[in-house]
Amino acid sequence: MTRTLRTPQELVDAGLIAPAAASALEAVAARYSIAVTPAMAALIREAGAPIAAQYLPEPEELITAPHELEDPTADAPFTPIKGVVHRYPDRALLKPLLACPVYCRFCFRREAVGPDGGLLSEAELEAALDWFAETPAVREVILTGGDPLMLSPRRLGRILARLAAIPHIETLRIHSRVPVADPGRITPGMLAALTLDRPLYLCVHANHAAEFTPEAAAGLRGLHAAGLVLLGQSVLLRGVNDSEAALEALFRAMLRHRVKPYYLHQLDPAPGTARFHVPVEEGLALLRALRGRVTGLAWPSYVQEQPAGAGKMPLGMAGMRGGAGQAREAV
Ligand code: SF4
Repeated sequence: MTRTLRTPQELVDAGLIAPAAASALEAVAARYSIAVTPAMAALIREAGAPIAAQYLPEPEELITAPHELEDPTADAPFTPIKGVVHRYPDRALLKPLLACPVYCRFCFRREAVGPDGGLLSEAELEAALDWFAETPAVREVILTGGDPLMLSPRRLGRILARLAAIPHIETLRIHSRVPVADPGRITPGMLAALTLDRPLYLCVHANHAAEFTPEAAAGLRGLHAAGLVLLGQSVLLRGVNDSEAALEALFRAMLRHRVKPYYLHQLDPAPGTARFHVPVEEGLALLRALRGRVTGLAWPSYVQEQPAGAGKMPLGMAGMRGGAGQAREAV
């Protein structure tokens, strides 16, 4: 298989879903994008349910639970200009496109992401870059989307170079699923585009130890050698990593591949994602069970997005010492 699967029929043809399931999934595909890269199709065959659950659509995605929200992170009120989200004083998001290598069934931006949408025009991109140049309070730019590593190396390199030339921008960060979901995109050209004279952090989204395939490992080695600092972000997901063993294996796999676990996200309440929900108390208990057993290097912050765009809240800092409760500061 050499190309990304994008329809229920293609998933049937690849043997990833049963033929009888396809017609019920057409309505899901009409609302939420599907993409399974060749690398992830192979991994579904090899590792089974924890990978399949992340990428293969299910009919219940069309059922919205009462607590689920179209825009759980509430980016809109914090958008000063198209493509920019400025929620915290010293950092802001730049979303140059909304395409991803895969479409995760639990995605918090699932109403927005897709292969056709969200690429900033040249004029919109210039305006967004000007906004960063004219906003000295912002010291960190976080490129997200969508997935910025879906851009061509030339376009991504140009954006990074422009941002790195702004004197008050001290650090750059990219959030990406590419290193595990589509590692073939980590080419010499991409590595050249990512080689900067400015600290560049790459936050790699991975949810299961099996995602660290030999191809992913090679890409991560290249990224590390190019001078990027690699961080890991994961979502706590029912059926994927909701056990002590799965979380321990995930965090240890990250460390073995030079990726420091940074965030474990509580699932955002995006529409049709209820099957992935793990209660916070259960997440805290899982992390508490790992405390002391795994090196502190493997320890991520367990965080939850607060309603109405109030930002991330670290969960259960007191709970980690044996009590319960939440820290009060935003991150
Ligand atoms: S890669 Fe990230 S933005 Fe894209 S679908 Fe997955 S979770 Fe959403």
